[in-house]
Amino acid sequence: MKILVLNSGSSSQKCRLYQVAPGAPLDPPPALWRAEIEWGLAQEPASLRIENSRGERIEERIDATTRAAAVERMLRGLWEGAAPAVRAPSEIQAVGHRIVHGGAEFRAPARIDARVLQAIAHHAEIAPLHNRAEIEGVRLVEKHLGSVPQVAVFDTAFHRTLPRSAAVYPGPYAWLDEGIERYGFHGINHRYCAERAARMLGKTPAEFRVITCHLGNGCSLAAVSGGHSVDTTMGFTPLEGLMMGTRSGSVDPGILIHLARKHRYTPDDLDRILNRESGLLGLSGVSSDLREVLAAARQGHSRAGLAFDVFLHRLRAGIGWMLASLGGLDALVFTAGIGENSPDVRAGACEPFAFLGLRLDPAKNADPAGDADVAAGDSSVRVLVIRAQEDWAIARECRQLLDSAQGKPPGRE
Ligand code: ADP
Repeated sequence: MKILVLNSGSSSQKCRLYQVAPGAPLDPPPALWRAEIEWGLAQEPASLRIENSRGERIEERIDATTRAAAVERMLRGLWEGAAPAVRAPSEIQAVGHRIVHGGAEFRAPARIDARVLQAIAHHAEIAPLHNRAEIEGVRLVEKHLGSVPQVAVFDTAFHRTLPRSAAVYPGPYAWLDEGIERYGFHGINHRYCAERAARMLGKTPAEFRVITCHLGNGCSLAAVSGGHSVDTTMGFTPLEGLMMGTRSGSVDPGILIHLARKHRYTPDDLDRILNRESGLLGLSGVSSDLREVLAAARQGHSRAGLAFDVFLHRLRAGIGWMLASLGGLDALVFTAGIGENSPDVRAGACEPFAFLGLRLDPAKNADPAGDADVAAGDSSVRVLVIRAQEDWAIARECRQLLDSAQGKPPGRE
């Protein structure tokens, strides 16, 4: 079955086409087609990159006036132009969408219909940048691919197993009636990494306790026990928890009250400050990209050094928090841009846990080969580097849902 995956970010749109067999393995096959749009600063044209499995490529600037027009251009590239993957849109048999916020009702992927779309629109109030772009993606697929089955795979669904003590905020009880509770995000990749880690170590998920550290532009941790998320650092929105590229993560809520009173900041001001002017960028003044922050810190830039120190402190504190929720640990996983590529962050994160017998192998940590175990041979806890495979995970979940809806046992066409 050819499944197209749409993954909408706030400033990018990724798209992959996979051939997905029934009972598809965790390891991703190469994509049949991949495309990405990146929006630069306002007024600048977006850049579009497409590549198919024959190595044919398109790289162009697109002067699309709207996001929808750019995404339509990308979708047409599936069957037209210099790097197509199919002869006609009808060859695409299903479409999976990453949906950031699924609220309380979605514990699993859902076939998209009017009711599901309405629920996604409802949650756009909490995750406006993401959910609106995702709804637009669903509509554009409808326009170009007709009535192909579309499936929503939610970033929040994996965390619906959080115990109430971890999910409920200690605010007024009335918050619960308004849906103000901890949802958690990055669930598609946390789930994938927890399963992959168990597989790599020859364990069954039921007997496995793992902390997955998703460290990209957005950063979150999950504590996974018996295959279920039991705690996570992001909450009602993707702003809670760790320090991130441009997001503050958790800060004393009293600061917001103070700033609103003193400077008359509006909700939009606070949104901008906490989501776009904080984190590595806000503290360092250099960049939201950890590579640039580290390079500046090495040259003696004191604010960059401070930003890295705070980033690491918050990460270690988060790991300690997840550890307490698990009550023991078999593996610690590092994933996403920073987790996969920064030996400094991995070493710094592990250091305070040496007293538990958790130890890295410095040579393996410096240069992990693909998905790898980088712990020392005698470490009490395995430390794994696992590449994020969100799009493949979405394609697999999409296939599983469609097969189960048709009553097919896994593994049968
Ligand atoms: P997103 O969350 O947008 O998917 P990624 O998972 O691609 O982002 O992570 C992006 C981040 O990864 C960048 O901000 C960059 O700081 C970090 N990164 C990528 N490569 C390295 C590296 N070699 N060393 C340190 N950080 C890196």
